[in-house]
Amino acid sequence: MPTRYDLDREAFADLLSGEPRYRVDQVWQGLYEHHTDPADITNLPKALRARLADELPLALEPAAESVSDDGDTVKWLWRLADGAAVETVLMHYPDRSTVCVSSQAGCAMACSFCATGQAGFERHMTVGEIVEQVVIAARVAKPRRLSNVVFMGMGEPLANYDATWGAVERIHGALGLSARHITVSTVGVVPGIERITQESLPVNLAVSLHAANDELRDELVPINRRYPIARLLEACRRYVDTTHRRLSFEWALIDGVNDREQDAQELAVAARAVRAHVNLIPLNPTPGYAVRGTPPARVREFRDRLEELGVNATVRRNRGTEIDAACGQLRANHEATPVRAPRRRTRTSTSTSTS
Ligand code: SAH
Repeated sequence: MPTRYDLDREAFADLLSGEPRYRVDQVWQGLYEHHTDPADITNLPKALRARLADELPLALEPAAESVSDDGDTVKWLWRLADGAAVETVLMHYPDRSTVCVSSQAGCAMACSFCATGQAGFERHMTVGEIVEQVVIAARVAKPRRLSNVVFMGMGEPLANYDATWGAVERIHGALGLSARHITVSTVGVVPGIERITQESLPVNLAVSLHAANDELRDELVPINRRYPIARLLEACRRYVDTTHRRLSFEWALIDGVNDREQDAQELAVAARAVRAHVNLIPLNPTPGYAVRGTPPARVREFRDRLEELGVNATVRRNRGTEIDAACGQLRANHEATPVRAPRRRTRTSTSTSTS
């Protein structure tokens, strides 16, 4: 059964076929511009509101919510209709509010250092399941305006291309976010990069590189065996040449693994070849990977070294570490204890735990 945000305008026109035509606009505005529940779209007749509330169920059932960084980071664990669990993180910054959404329950890419990868693949998410995460974040962000969406939660968005792109179009067209404020992050699924190159909406593309030689990348990011670095960079080059958009490389700095002089040099060659900006993320610890993140002073040194080598690099701040909401820490495996006790202000709402 489709959920509330799975339906496009045509599907609404069908659903409301016995009603005056302007009802479609009213419902659409209520859901996407005011982020309201059908029951609260007050310009609709009562009976219609009740019918829509009944026929358009929400996809995400809250299982837990936690707050950190003095309220500036909010993480949700959702339970989907079939029991799968996914997470969403909302982050407020002085100049923007960003939501990090999941595109799959679990992930098949099996990156060794990522908690989602360690837990394996469950299923693809639908357009409605992805879009609903953004609508909820937009509602909770008020009075601030949700400005950015990053596909950096659970899952590999380009392995679930149609739903990801359907969600991008809805987030842009119906929720009104600028395409330049939407970022799709990929582990390097080359056919997906080739498809996104052909799309007309100018979203940002982030490629999770993490290693710039095949031997190390095969180990950290197993999909590299299928799409090795030369092929990946070729797809990146075509993307940049065709779209004239900026590409970024994500690089999780792992102590003694990819933070050495040789790594900086290899990364600089790759980044310069496609004029990529580099985002450095100190590795967040995960249960299944016994290696540490690079200490802060050496993270800065690595960034400075890249700059010397002619590459723009920034260090991404770790948000939500204390509530397991940081990059790579999201995991579906919360059955018994939905959220580990964070240090500050936590609220665990209606537990739908099955155990
Ligand atoms: N599958 C997509 C999006 C998911 S994760 C992708 O791979 O890009 C978003 C980013 O977090 C990716 O760059 C991913 O490599 C990174 N990441 C995963 N685990 C991490 C960890 N433990 N520490 C820091 N970054 C991590």
